[in-house]
Amino acid sequence: MTKTYAPTMITETIGFFPGSVNIGIVVTADGAVLIDSGLDTQTAKKTKKGLDEISQPLHAIIQTHSHADHFGGNHYLLAQYPNTRVYAPVLEAAIIENPILEPIYLGMGAEPLAELRNKFLLAEPSRVDQLLPEKGPLKISDRTFEIIPLPGHSWNQCGVVVDGICFAADSYYSPEVLQKHRLPFLVDAEETVKSVRLLQQTAYLGYIPGHGDFETDCKETLQYNLEYHQTILEQIHELYTIHPSSLEEGLQIICEKREINITNMTSYVLFRTAFMGYVVGLNKQGRLEYEFKENRLMIRGK
Ligand SMILES: [Zn+2]
Repeated sequence: MTKTYAPTMITETIGFFPGSVNIGIVVTADGAVLIDSGLDTQTAKKTKKGLDEISQPLHAIIQTHSHADHFGGNHYLLAQYPNTRVYAPVLEAAIIENPILEPIYLGMGAEPLAELRNKFLLAEPSRVDQLLPEKGPLKISDRTFEIIPLPGHSWNQCGVVVDGICFAADSYYSPEVLQKHRLPFLVDAEETVKSVRLLQQTAYLGYIPGHGDFETDCKETLQYNLEYHQTILEQIHELYTIHPSSLEEGLQIICEKREINITNMTSYVLFRTAFMGYVVGLNKQGRLEYEFKENRLMIRGK
């Protein structure tokens, strides 16, 4: 049997290229619209083969957010299909056009260390032709894409709904992915929880997360995500209530508790940012306060 690169279709015109990052596809009268493009050129080459197999040119790419593993395929795809239009949310677009901003913000704004310049954090730049509306319909070719705001994992992350199929980006993960990450990446835990709650109010025909399985009913998965975030929030609140301490010390305690073993700079900056995202969430809930003691930022629960 010859290997196929064709996408997995859910309806006649809507499907996805399954992978460590799922790439959505919607077939329009003018060719394929992708939702995100995956990590890198190697992924993009497979996507191109898949498009060739179903005889579709690439018409447009809708970016859900600006993480390197979701737009790293653009560089190759845009070279192959120069007329492709790229859509992205405000702010996310700025990072997609200037990808060095990702290692910069993960590195606390300083010049990124050499080790942070890897393909997981730093993709090739891509042009963005049109900013997405914050929410509402977007017409591309003969299809209507409903944009829904799903911030939290990234500032202006969005989901995309077409004919009742929801591409949910990284607003939630499958339980397996959560158990692997243990401290899932986010920039704002409160917004992340709100986005999961927003999805809980929906009853689409199907859901495709950025990482995880397609489900026709993701209620259990969403509930699992809510409880997972809640557990982490409670753990952080408890540790700072019992033992007011610095950000660094809090991160160390939570990693030990959650059996996370940081051994390289990439995972350190990702976990540190995620941890800060939970701290910010607790602060917004009025459950954490901070002060400065001997030139150290000290956090305490209340
Ligand atoms: Zn992401």
